[in-house]
Amino acid sequence: MNVYFLGTGTSQGIPVIGSMHSVCQSTDFKDKRLRVAVWIHWEQYSFVIDCGPDFRQQMLRSNCQKVDGILFTHEHSDHTAGLDDIRPFFFKQGDIPIYGHQRVIENLKKRFDYIFETENKYPGAPSVKPIEVINNQPFAIGNKMAVPINVMHGKLQVFGYRLGDFAYLTDVKTIDQAEIAKLKNLKVLVINALREEPHHSHFNLQEALDFIALVQPEKAYLTHISHILGFHEEVQQKLPKNVYLAYDNLEISIK
Ligand SMILES: [Zn+2]
Repeated sequence: MNVYFLGTGTSQGIPVIGSMHSVCQSTDFKDKRLRVAVWIHWEQYSFVIDCGPDFRQQMLRSNCQKVDGILFTHEHSDHTAGLDDIRPFFFKQGDIPIYGHQRVIENLKKRFDYIFETENKYPGAPSVKPIEVINNQPFAIGNKMAVPINVMHGKLQVFGYRLGDFAYLTDVKTIDQAEIAKLKNLKVLVINALREEPHHSHFNLQEALDFIALVQPEKAYLTHISHILGFHEEVQQKLPKNVYLAYDNLEISIK
């Protein structure tokens, strides 16, 4: 299975519009981060986790040819605002399956009402097939099982997903023991680390490193990164040996 980091930035992306911050001005391609998402593909299967405002650009630059489904973590715009841009996939493939908490599906129905319209639908609008994700109920995607991991983003519930020896968690601030127990024996854990300073709804760097030490994956990749975390190369040098800062267009293979 391959995991392609489509975006590794926090909600504004890096560079932030109009910012003169040195990280926003950096010429290192690893300091340029679109909104957070991953593309997971194996054999003939191809799924994305989240569909933020940079989705179109991410699909073009990764050369993703099809999307068998979108797994949503939660409804915040940096994870959902690109939904209209599934149109080229819809034209080729038909209704695109979307997976998420019932609350997230209801939220998308409000914000993208025309996508869910059943009567007098505008020709050219995409259609989706919503599939509710329920905690403790693993579900099939392609020939693999996805295990929902229930986490808290401040006061908001968010789903992470485990697929085999890989788990993707973003926008985590707290997580119960029962959910941590679902993360044993991972080869790769992706986890959010916003910045060094504490934040009310995101792990900061130290919280992410403590969580990695607790879960003990073989390797961990940090994502959902703010420009104020610092320059990619400098932050990477400070990390433990099995921990990496993810960057856009990084692709890893999990066997
Ligand atoms: Zn987010």
